[in-house]
Amino acid sequence: MGGLIPNEIIDRILGQADIVEVVSSYVPLKRSGRNFKALCPFHDEKTPSFMVHPEKGIFKCFGCGKGGNAIHFVMEREQLSFPEAVRALGERYGIAVPETRGERPESGLKKDALKQAVAMAASFYHGCLLDEKRGGDRAMEYLAGRGIAKATVERFGIGWAPDAWDAVLSEGRRKGFADPVMAAAGLVARSEKTGNFFDMLRARVVLPIKDVRGTVVGFSGRVLDASEPKYLNTPETALFTKRSILFGLHEARDAVLRDKRVIVVEGQLDFITLFQAGFEGAVASQGTAFTPEQARLLKRYADTAIFAYDADSAGQQATVRSFEALLAMELDVKVAVMPSGFDPDKLVRDRGIEAFREKVESAIDLVAFQYDVVRLQHDPATAAGRARIAAALMETVRAAANPVLQHEYIRRSAEVSGIPEETLRLELKRLGGGRSAPRATAGAAEEARAGDGGRSAAERELVALAVNAPPVGQALRPRIAPSDLQDADCRELLQAVYDALAESDRAAAELGFVELSRAVMSRIERPEVADLLSEIALVSKTLSATVTDEMIDQLVNKVFEPKRKARLKELKARIDKESRDGTVDPHLIEEYRTLRAAMRHWR
Ligand SMILES: [Zn+2]
Repeated sequence: MGGLIPNEIIDRILGQADIVEVVSSYVPLKRSGRNFKALCPFHDEKTPSFMVHPEKGIFKCFGCGKGGNAIHFVMEREQLSFPEAVRALGERYGIAVPETRGERPESGLKKDALKQAVAMAASFYHGCLLDEKRGGDRAMEYLAGRGIAKATVERFGIGWAPDAWDAVLSEGRRKGFADPVMAAAGLVARSEKTGNFFDMLRARVVLPIKDVRGTVVGFSGRVLDASEPKYLNTPETALFTKRSILFGLHEARDAVLRDKRVIVVEGQLDFITLFQAGFEGAVASQGTAFTPEQARLLKRYADTAIFAYDADSAGQQATVRSFEALLAMELDVKVAVMPSGFDPDKLVRDRGIEAFREKVESAIDLVAFQYDVVRLQHDPATAAGRARIAAALMETVRAAANPVLQHEYIRRSAEVSGIPEETLRLELKRLGGGRSAPRATAGAAEEARAGDGGRSAAERELVALAVNAPPVGQALRPRIAPSDLQDADCRELLQAVYDALAESDRAAAELGFVELSRAVMSRIERPEVADLLSEIALVSKTLSATVTDEMIDQLVNKVFEPKRKARLKELKARIDKESRDGTVDPHLIEEYRTLRAAMRHWR
């Protein structure tokens, strides 16, 4: 599978990472015969349908269908990409995973050095907060004034950057960090005039910014007085890209996954105040505009995003436009409008967490929110105003990638604006039809495929045979290519079977089915394919001995049948046309006859 990580490394990791051990570090497992069962960590259930099979090295949920090996489990549970999950397991089992292509070989080392420098700074800043000689008492007073408790300060490692040009610089040097490393970590910068390094953050309360795995990657510093800029982030580094970070996601992750819903606030202090008040499902965007990278990150955890921005910033066009990134990721977007003059932090401190919760529960959908914004700009009483309103609404609806959501948004747009659905659809079409047109075609193709029920079933059966009986896989290789299959998952799986067979140093006849399915599974990166394979590997009725050549022939022909049917239809049309014109190409007739005969034979 086009893996950037060598197969032998993946195999070594899977050899070490026992599926039972890996899964049970997240979910308590109960023995059930030779296997284990548990309540599925991926969907809500009362009776366990989640199974772990130590011998096959896989897990499978018969409720939600998720399945795969230890790597797939970590992917799903930690919401990591395939290489990230391999790396996480590699770290856990002490197996070095080489850097993948696209990263320079030394960049792994460098990133580690940066992480260490940032960690050093985090503990230094935190220490300074508790140090009166460094001026930490002023910062503590400020935090207390903002209602932030000591426990919260500890929980988030909040710190203080002393009012000096070389505080973290000296500390880092003392700890053995080279100046350029600290500069690359964004802690210090070099003066163009003097060539000397100096601290980036001075006289500021410091909030560590973590990535989703909880590693501190940068800092945000806030002034105590009214001076500007109020907030200053450490610069972007190899570790820290602001546009792909959501502040607090590491802490919020479990709650967001559980509820499939995330509340997005603007400021870091909004987040901290909410968390302190026991509201755990929020993240801070650190600015009003929302980036596509942040949208992609959220999509891993949630289906719905509720924006709780203060009334002013939520109404700005740039903010509304940035919501479209989320619609494009098929997230449902809602807006919880804060009372005028309040941000979530102030709302919670003045009126309590329940007031905030109420606002969240009564969040309005994006369409209704946008209508409220645009009707202040355009007069809904005039035709021209209504046209502008329709255009503005459909501009947003157009961004929705999911046809079901798009449909729902059009319906809601008509409801809130009183503009007929038909008019809105025309407007949408005028704007370029949005995504609905190509989507609909894709959907139709999908339907046609599903409607042709036999094909998909035959492909599945064929792939299942190839996985479960290595000699069958071997026999199929010269007869059917992965590209002959219509279903993308089956195609990928068959390719993985062929690859595994080709790479095995033993003859297919000697290769056990358990070994083969393990080898195939280790080549699968896409979760959908892992789900399919785990299902196939478990429902195997086994086979090898009972599979006859006749059965294989029949299956291969079944797989080709739809293609043949299509060709037959095409031939018939051409023959009909040519016979009307007077001369029929005899080759066409010959091909038609042969095809008909072949198809009858396999009936
Ligand atoms: Zn499940």
